[in-house]
Order: sequence, then structure tokens, then C-alpha cells
Amino acid sequence: MMDKNITQNNSFQERLTSRVSQFDISGKTLLIPDMAPFGSRLLAAGFKAFGVPARVMETYTGLEMGKEFTSGKECFPCQVTLGDILHFLHTEKERLGDKFVPDQYVYFMPEADGPCRFGMYNKLHRLVLDKFPEFEDVAITYLSSTDSYQSSEILPPEKSRLFRRLGYVATIIADVLDRIVWRVRPYEKIPGQTDEFMEKALQEMEQAIEASGESRDFKTLYSLLSDIAFRARDLIDPEKPRRPRIGIIGEIYLRTHPRSNQDIIREIETYGGEVVDATLGEWINFVTYSNLRTTRRKWNQAWKNMDIKGLMESSRKWLDSKIEIQYQLLRQKQAYAQALKHLDIQDDHPIGLLEKRLDNDRLFNFDIGTEAAISIGGALEYVHDDFHGVVNVFPFTCMPSTICSAILKPILLEKKVPFLDAPYDGSIQPNRDIAIRTFMYQARQRLIKNQKPA
Ligand code: SF4
Repeated sequence: MMDKNITQNNSFQERLTSRVSQFDISGKTLLIPDMAPFGSRLLAAGFKAFGVPARVMETYTGLEMGKEFTSGKECFPCQVTLGDILHFLHTEKERLGDKFVPDQYVYFMPEADGPCRFGMYNKLHRLVLDKFPEFEDVAITYLSSTDSYQSSEILPPEKSRLFRRLGYVATIIADVLDRIVWRVRPYEKIPGQTDEFMEKALQEMEQAIEASGESRDFKTLYSLLSDIAFRARDLIDPEKPRRPRIGIIGEIYLRTHPRSNQDIIREIETYGGEVVDATLGEWINFVTYSNLRTTRRKWNQAWKNMDIKGLMESSRKWLDSKIEIQYQLLRQKQAYAQALKHLDIQDDHPIGLLEKRLDNDRLFNFDIGTEAAISIGGALEYVHDDFHGVVNVFPFTCMPSTICSAILKPILLEKKVPFLDAPYDGSIQPNRDIAIRTFMYQARQRLIKNQKPA
């Protein structure tokens, strides 16, 4: 009996390590979950530029299946993304019949280290896929926060560095496109025109990224981005007065996935707000910044111990992270500059600034990690930029977002900045609508008060 248990455990572990792994995905169909709509599609375009036929899966349609194969204790994004992959594979199998070849597909589920369960989603998804013999050979791959989402294990070495560059720029461009939408849509001359225009603009950008291939020609992408911002500006009715500005912080999946957050950005717009959500770039920059801090700590430790090997190793890693973060800041600045030439979108902030907002670690410490660090810093940055309200969007029971709420609520109350917690788990909450309307009333009062001469 004991031997049988050991064998089962070994095979279980073997599946988790060999079928949730990093390997060369060239030629396979990469299945990307839909998170931030612009971000997912431009990331897929980036993969296609490097010869990987990536597809963004239809989202939320399979939620019932995601719930059926989980216990209810998992984080909501884990259930949604599980539903997406199950729905995709079942539909694909039905469509292709005998021509369905499971090992032609690779499911892409990134992960993060630290105290959060995000590092376990892909393992849980593996266990569920293995319940279906026909999906056992669908491999799962990931990029990890431990090496700042380097792609060196999933693409050939000569391509991976270039891909990371393009992937990063594509993500920042997606952030800028989002910010163009949020700046223009609340003031559009003709209802619906912004969404229509931006869908076409997104397609143009996808094609441009794909066509850029491995050239590292970001000038073409920047010039298209500038042109999109220029054209989008014309959709604004200049007679419409500026609305209360609402900053969104929170868990990255929930705040960027419109289906999961029941389209909270549009809802706030419907009740008279102009929204700015925290970006995808913020998370990537935070991961690189955190790795730089870790390396610095290791260097100090090695120095104390006079560990020469450790000193050399951490110096090399420190330099790599430093170059990476400078590169990211440069690219981010360049991309935002394209839009800012024509439209006053909200610029993004360097992560070091968010750390400063934590008041010398009095409010929170970056060493604790998790998104709470940038969400707390981000909310205070919105306050510094005179926003009229802050909304914390997160999955019900999300640990970092709950910490965030506990820290921010009293601070923002004292500063008289309206604050709203918006947790989601897929159910419809009857009082959510009233909560948003009340919050918007408070935000409008703050705008009026700030406009009055002192
Ligand atoms: S951030 Fe929140 S939702 Fe994401 S894994 Fe952690 S606890 Fe779950």
C-alpha cells in the first residue's frame, strides 16, 4: 500500500514538473487567456511576430466549467481562466474531431512567486486537465516573476531577448491605448464612436506588431500610436466639461478583465466619471524593481560574509536588473510621449515613486511584496495627482487587496477622498450599483469643492 502511495506521489509530481514547464514552444499553438483585452491581443501579436501561432481564447463563456472543477476556495481569476481553457479545448475538440492533436497546443499561464496563490494556478489547471484523457497531452508553460518574465526558456536563445523587448513594448502600447479610450470615451461627440474607432486602431496595431517581426523596429509602432492618439482626439466634444477623475487600483486580473469586474469602468463612466486604471506595465516594472532590491540585499549579505563568489554573482545580477529597469523606463517614456503629443492622457509613474509614497515604509514595505505594495502607493499617487476618488477592484477574499483596503480606508477617509472597495466572485450583488452611484456623488462633490476659489 505504502509503495503504491509513493509511486502515485512520484507520478503526480512528475506530471506537475514535466507538464507544467518551460520549453521551446516554437511551432506550437500558444493559448493565451484573455485578461486586459488590448494587452492580451498585443501580446499574442508579439508572439506571432516571433513565429509562434498564438491565440487569445474566448473568455468567461466557460465559467460554469471553471466552477465545476474547483472547490470554491480558489481565487476567482483561477476559476475564470480554468473555464476559458476547458471551454476552448472542448470546443476545439468538437470542431476538429479526429484531427484534434492535443500536443500541438500549449496553454500559457504565467506565475508569480511570493505569498500569493498565483504561483499555483497552472498546477491546479494541470490537475484538472488531467481529468480529461484527451487533454493530458496539452502542455502548460509559463513565464515567472522570479526572473522578471524572461522568455529564455520558451524561445530559442537568439530570439528570447528580442522577444522580451517586443513583448514589453507591446504591453506598454496596450496601456497607452487603454488610457486613450478612458480619456476620450466619456467626452465623445457620438456615443459608441470611441469603441468603434479603437477596435480598428487595435487591429492596425496588431498587424504592425506582427509585421515588425524580429526587426526591433519600434519607430513604426510609435508612429502608429501617435497617429491613433491624434485621430482619437477628434472624437472629443470640447464643450463637455471635465468629469470627476477616478483612479482604479487592485488585483491585476480583476481590474483589467471587464467580464470579471462586470465592466466597472463603463459603469463609472455611465454615472459621470472619467477613469484611469493602474497599468499592466506597472506590474512588470514592479517585478523588475523587486528583483533589483532582492539582488541588492543579497549583495549586502555577501559583503558582510566576505563571500567573493556571492558578491560577483549578485553584482552581475544587479547590473542586469539595473539595465533592464532603465530600458523599461526609457521605452515606457517613449511610448507615452507619442500619445501625450496630442492628448493629455494620464502618464504612468516610476515604481520608485510609489515606494516613496509609502512614507519610509511606515504604511507598507516593498519587502513584503505582493500587489499591495503598488496598489497602496498607486492610490496615494492618485491622491497626489488630485483625483476625486479611488476604487479598489479585486477578487473576493484576495489577500493583498484586503490588506490594501485595511490600510487605505482610514488614510483616504482622513484626506476626505472617496474610496470604494469592489470585490467580485462572479455573482451579481444587488447593492453594487447603489454603492457606485453614491461613490460617484461623493467624487462629484469633491470636484466641485476643488473647483471653488479658496
Ligand atoms: S493576488 Fe489575490 S487573487 Fe491573485 S493569487 Fe493572490 S490572493 Fe489570489
